[in-house]
Amino acid sequence: MNEDKNIGLFEFISSASDEGFRYVNYNTGYVIASKKFREMLGISDDDVGNDTKVLDAIYPDDREKFEDALQTAIGKQEQNFEVEYRVGDGTGWILHKSTNRYDKDGNIIERFCFLHDITEEKKKQADLEYVTYFDADTGVYNRNYFIKRLDKAIKKSEKPDFDKIQVMYIDIDNYSVVTDSVGFETGDELLINFAKLLTEYSSSKIKIGRFKNDEFAIAIYDAEKENEILDIYDDIKKKLETPFKLSDGNEVYISISVGITSYPKGGNNAGDLIKCADIAMYHVKKSGKNSMCVFEKSMLDDFIRHVKMENDLKVAVEKLDFVLNYQPQYYSEKKELRGVEALVRWKISEDEYINPGEFIPMAEKNGCIVNIGKWVIRQALDDFIDWKMNYGYNGMISINISAIQLKDEAFSNYILQCVEDRNVVPSDVEIEITESVLIENFEKTRQALAELRRYGFKIALDDFGTGYSSLSYLKNIPIDTLKIDKSFVDTMISDSSTGIITDALIKMVKRLGLETIAEGVETKEQYDYLKKMDCDNIQGFLLGRPMSSNDIKELITKLNESYK
Ligand code: C2E
Ligand code: CA
Ligand code: CA
Repeated sequence: MNEDKNIGLFEFISSASDEGFRYVNYNTGYVIASKKFREMLGISDDDVGNDTKVLDAIYPDDREKFEDALQTAIGKQEQNFEVEYRVGDGTGWILHKSTNRYDKDGNIIERFCFLHDITEEKKKQADLEYVTYFDADTGVYNRNYFIKRLDKAIKKSEKPDFDKIQVMYIDIDNYSVVTDSVGFETGDELLINFAKLLTEYSSSKIKIGRFKNDEFAIAIYDAEKENEILDIYDDIKKKLETPFKLSDGNEVYISISVGITSYPKGGNNAGDLIKCADIAMYHVKKSGKNSMCVFEKSMLDDFIRHVKMENDLKVAVEKLDFVLNYQPQYYSEKKELRGVEALVRWKISEDEYINPGEFIPMAEKNGCIVNIGKWVIRQALDDFIDWKMNYGYNGMISINISAIQLKDEAFSNYILQCVEDRNVVPSDVEIEITESVLIENFEKTRQALAELRRYGFKIALDDFGTGYSSLSYLKNIPIDTLKIDKSFVDTMISDSSTGIITDALIKMVKRLGLETIAEGVETKEQYDYLKKMDCDNIQGFLLGRPMSSNDIKELITKLNESYK
């Protein structure tokens, strides 16, 4: 290149350029740099030709990177190379583009470089990275990044004599109850404070992640001893003995349920480790919360069984593999049928059945209960009308309804349509609901029940005595019948205070105009005792176990014969 001809041009570029620009001719020693170049690197006019000074202007951590890029370019005699590095205190970023010219021996004779300020772009990129890797509310790793990093640690780990990668899955107990009582915003603040508490354990080998709303995880990548993570758990527990002080003045105590596992005991990848820790955590939830549990293979078997059962249940709901049994309810005065209660069973083979206690809670959780419940209504009414038309039955039919079904606004229309289709009189149908249904959503439930009652259905409050058993709300809810739970019946004779309570309860309930049914009556002694206390109706193994529709037909026939 003809330098003389270009010098004017370089001077023009350097004075007019808003970019950092520098030209060096290593043969002649001619150097020119724009003002911006000097500003960007923070070097003086005199030093612009000094490559060492230029190198010194680069943030120390990035110097090697720059040197490497430069030497690689020179080694390959490449004309152009680009490198990004930080300057100053490390917050400013520069994109450095350089063009070198070499002589035939490979020595550099001249170099142009342009510096481009990319601080803003880098900031945006970092923000984006933050969003991709970190949880926006709490600043800990998000789920994906936690798993990615954990997988990386697993790949790097060697076969040690004990499990050095240890994982803990944390769930705050009753978080929804806490937010219900302090409000959502305060609930968020609580989560942020909790995450902060966890972050105190964060280090180069201990990482924190947030998985769901109130679910977090901690991983140790390189533990010094077996079960080191248990020390962290103990420490967190100790800290939770002090309440979180929130900005609205509330002091909130929380407890946590924790599942623990390690690599490779709990799996060969991060996903499996988390799953196993999660399963161990659920184990804690099931057995009363506020504790920790180390994952064991048997929990996985339980879990797999549970998942299989859940899948089987979905299939059963499609195929309607259920049967109804009916348990008689007798008037306590005369041994005459007051009604029968429909109790569902899941039929898994010709002579194998699963009891509702084992699958109804699962069906309530996954929503299957809605379709099961609809089938129960149809089947119970079909059987009922058959008994009535063909066997002279004149008792009632009681049907259990779950909270989930009652929440569905179309429910009352559904059951009304079902009775109308079969010419059943609604007052022959008693809907059994449990106390917990009421308490969960009092006003809405009250309205739903009032509507059903307007249509003529009878309402029974089931399992009375197992929940809150507040007598005060009995006045305010539209019910006709109260079912006294088996737990009262079981102890009313041996425990005199239960006896007194049961007696008082029956008297009070009757004064409110409600009918009473005692459940789970197994002995003649209990029967006599309840009769003496004026309990209206008796249900239990003593007088009849749940039985098939055909057995009910026989029973009705037999009873009708005996009245003649
Ligand atoms: P529940 O409504 O309290 O029903 C009474 C349960 O106690 C029945 O158990 C019955 O077999 C049992 N039982 C009755 N008398 C005695 C007795 O003298 N001694 C003993 N030890 N037990 C007695 P089952 O059939 O296993 O039902 C369990 C629960 O499942 C029911 O409790 C009810 O809450 C629920 N359930 C049953 N069928 C349905 C249904 O169709 N829909 C809904 N949502 N829940 C149902
Ligand atoms: Ca019931
Ligand atoms: Ca009951």
